[in-house]
Amino acid sequence: MFHSRYLPCPDCGASVDRAGDSQHDCSPERLADYQLFGLRDEVAELETRVRDYLRTSAGRFDAWLAARQVRGEA
Ligand SMILES: [Zn+2]
Repeated sequence: MFHSRYLPCPDCGASVDRAGDSQHDCSPERLADYQLFGLRDEVAELETRVRDYLRTSAGRFDAWLAARQVRGEA
């Protein structure tokens, strides 16, 4: 069976040399990008759900309350 020398890191997706002695440390930026990429569908769905919520009466009240709090009237 063929084994590639390089494997993608399961956490950040970087190509890691399995034959190398050095321990792989995930770059925080790459880690964040990789995880966000994996969540892109959920992020898009969250935006839709927030917009849908803000159209309900409870959502309109929350938006009104938040705007009031931002203005310092609460
Ligand atoms: Zn990594």
